[in-house]
Amino acid sequence: MVKNSEASPPAGSPLNPIPLPKERKLLRRYYAGERLRSPLGGQLDVLGIREGEGGGGRVLLECNTSSLRFVLMVPRASKAEVAKVKEAVEAGEEPACPRHGPYQRLARSGRRWACPLCGVSFGKSI
Ligand SMILES: [Zn+2]
Repeated sequence: MVKNSEASPPAGSPLNPIPLPKERKLLRRYYAGERLRSPLGGQLDVLGIREGEGGGGRVLLECNTSSLRFVLMVPRASKAEVAKVKEAVEAGEEPACPRHGPYQRLARSGRRWACPLCGVSFGKSI
């Protein structure tokens, strides 16, 4: 393979995952815990969750047939979601992810509450 230092890494490589289309139904499936279908056929396996810029999340995925990498961008928390989490914390409850549902607890990430499955921050933890 010839290396070209000026070119960016090829689309779909680990350093340059292909963004999945920003579709609500795709996000809904992800929140429901369903496996996502690859745009190239096959299924997408979750490789890891990252916190994105501005409080959103990034889900890194790999197609199990082509081995191409994809990334699902998860939108940042809405004011209503932040308020819901704040209410739960103030009531002494362990906050749950407003998107994944009551069984998915949020984790403290630095000074924020974040969902381990979507990478989204839902407000300050202190
Ligand atoms: Zn979540």
